Amino acid sequence: MEHVIQALTRIIQKITHEESPTEQVRLIVDSISQVAGTDVCSLYRKNADGDLALLASHGLEVNHPLVIPADKGLVGLVARSRHPINVAEAARHEAFYYVPDSLEERFASFCGVPLVQAGKVIGVLTVQRTRAEKISDAQEAFLVTLASQLALIIAQIPPETQKPHKSQHYQGLPAAPGVALGNILICESGLLNDVPDSQCDDPKAESKKWHRLLASVVEDVKREQAALGNALSDSVIGIFDAYLMLLSDSTLVQGVEAEIQNNSSLSSAIRKTVLGIAAVFKNMEDPYLRARHEDILHLGNKLLQSLKGQTTLEHSTQTQPPLNGQGQIVLVGHQVSVSQMAAIPNGQLAGVVSGEGSRLSHTAVLANAMGVPAVMGVGSLKGLKSQLPILINGSEGYVVLQPSPAVLKAFGKQLQKEQKIREQLATLRDEPAETTDGYRVRLFANTGLLADISPGIKNGAEGIGLYRTEIPFMVRNSFPNEDEQVEVYQSVFNAYTNKPVYMRTLDIGGDKQLPYFPIHAEDNPALGWRGIRFTLDNIQLMMTQVRAMVRAAGKGNQLNILLPMISSTTEVNLVRELIEDACQQLMAEGYEIDRPKMGIMLEVPAATSQIPFWKDKIDFISIGSNDLSQYLLALDRNNIHVADRYDHVHPAVLHEIDRIVDIARLYKIPLSLCGEMASDPVAVVLLVGMGIQQLSMSSSKLPRIKRLIRAISAPMASTILHQALAMDNAHDIRQWVKSRIKELKIDELTDI
Ligand code: PEP
Ligand code: MG
Repeated sequence: MEHVIQALTRIIQKITHEESPTEQVRLIVDSISQVAGTDVCSLYRKNADGDLALLASHGLEVNHPLVIPADKGLVGLVARSRHPINVAEAARHEAFYYVPDSLEERFASFCGVPLVQAGKVIGVLTVQRTRAEKISDAQEAFLVTLASQLALIIAQIPPETQKPHKSQHYQGLPAAPGVALGNILICESGLLNDVPDSQCDDPKAESKKWHRLLASVVEDVKREQAALGNALSDSVIGIFDAYLMLLSDSTLVQGVEAEIQNNSSLSSAIRKTVLGIAAVFKNMEDPYLRARHEDILHLGNKLLQSLKGQTTLEHSTQTQPPLNGQGQIVLVGHQVSVSQMAAIPNGQLAGVVSGEGSRLSHTAVLANAMGVPAVMGVGSLKGLKSQLPILINGSEGYVVLQPSPAVLKAFGKQLQKEQKIREQLATLRDEPAETTDGYRVRLFANTGLLADISPGIKNGAEGIGLYRTEIPFMVRNSFPNEDEQVEVYQSVFNAYTNKPVYMRTLDIGGDKQLPYFPIHAEDNPALGWRGIRFTLDNIQLMMTQVRAMVRAAGKGNQLNILLPMISSTTEVNLVRELIEDACQQLMAEGYEIDRPKMGIMLEVPAATSQIPFWKDKIDFISIGSNDLSQYLLALDRNNIHVADRYDHVHPAVLHEIDRIVDIARLYKIPLSLCGEMASDPVAVVLLVGMGIQQLSMSSSKLPRIKRLIRAISAPMASTILHQALAMDNAHDIRQWVKSRIKELKIDELTDI
């Protein structure tokens, strides 16, 4: 038998190439059964009731959803006892439970091992053989070792991966919320991987062809942008700008040119260059940047399609009437691109289903902006054909092909409910976020992508509370110069005319790296060279950025410069001097500018006690609750081993924020909060109770938070807070606040 580490490495390598959970579990059981030489290998996952649902099986034939009750069968016994059970004749064991229609009687022996994650049994892995013989001790040990490693992966797979009719139900990732019903329109899958290597005889002519092609695709993208722009105002412009930027990027333009000069034909030059660039992005640690590889592949496909003179859609129109009052087309493809979405006539797009891709892809961003549900990463598209009716649930991340009348009925109810909620929330757009007794909270949007600027306005944001400038830096292959930055920042100020914008200086380091400025591996990146520590050591970058921000803001008093990771007076002083210097320089150069306000992100706990020293040096404080919680709790919420211990309503975090609010009030420093807490209804009630008056969050969450604030009173929030502050753990606090929110009976908040 293969060494366990080798086997495991092979299995993991295989499954990481599969994005669909259904395919992943299938690969796991197939591989184990092959490695361990058994007739059956099955994977059960505990569901919310504690019962064991079959996720996948190699060898057992079950045509219906199989759930073994927690107190039944050998599988249930393995889960309850938390140790392996290895028997020669399963049917003779007192706990044996026959699974109807499974033809299980063909298999005599049984060995089951528990899958344990973070101290809890999350499922059971079983193997069976026709021979009435226990598997060997070595094989059992092999399974135990394998199970302990696989548990981590299986914990991330939703329990409901196995659905009643596999061919009907496709599980993916929720990428844009909402439910819709429509008819499938299949998008042409990418051509990139199919392009053969071929040579050209005349590089000069090929090069001319390349530049003609580039020009025509640029025109196409602009046309698509214009077509969608009318329907959606500015919300999608950024995505297409990003495409246009990529099309003029020297890495692509010169890369293809260089391949042509090496005698590659234009199509193979495009393939090699695009796949090369995409691979660089795909290997990046930052999830946002990693998702950009999809954009590059989309562009590559677009270039090739244009070269072949093809359209990207199998059919261009649909004849069926709308099924749900919205659009009627559900675009389905291996990699649905924003161009393909833009090609659907206005109002006809009901949803998007993509075999590959993540929720950070521009396809998902655009779907969110358009308000159509999207499910990404469903894996294989087998069975999905144009014209077939399909139901898409973007909130939960699944689609149902040819839904049954019962499913349609349930769906109809949900659709009505969602529609009602949307309408109710939309009526609040221009209403203030004010408690029932008149306590006003200002709600701002967090952003960093040009493409997600205007949904903030559409959802009633009063300004931008956090503009993460690292994103424009990350999507390039060298530092953007001052003029380039001015252009990006100006579009932000223009989108929010007369409204405040809190622009954060570059916050790289830790988990955010610039591809062209690698920071060498650090033992403790979260405690290392990041945020203001990095930029102050690279003062030339900071000076360029501050000059660009101040220039872009001009004379509008919109700019508030926000400094990440501040922990010392020296840092505050240095930045103050730098901003003053930048303003002096710009005025001397003849620019018409206003001096910006300057404030700090309070995310390093050390900053709290120093606020009194900085009272005359800073204009505002914005609590970065993500990092503040991470540092207070010494917990990385992206680390799968400890993520479930992380909760920003932990007593340590609440008491600290309460203290910060008191200090800020005492020294009359305006205070806001811009981390994830601002979009968590439970945390928001507590923050209002503390007296926070400004919150900044992802714009999609803003309407619900406004609804919540308008339903509570300040004294109520304060009472809830005081009870919460007397509790000793996050779980109890969360439950308590939730129960109080539920009493408000707000439809829009039933899913908290
Ligand atoms: C924070 O730390 O809360 C924050 C908003 O900053 P970021 O998530 O970008 O680190
Ligand atoms: Mg932070």
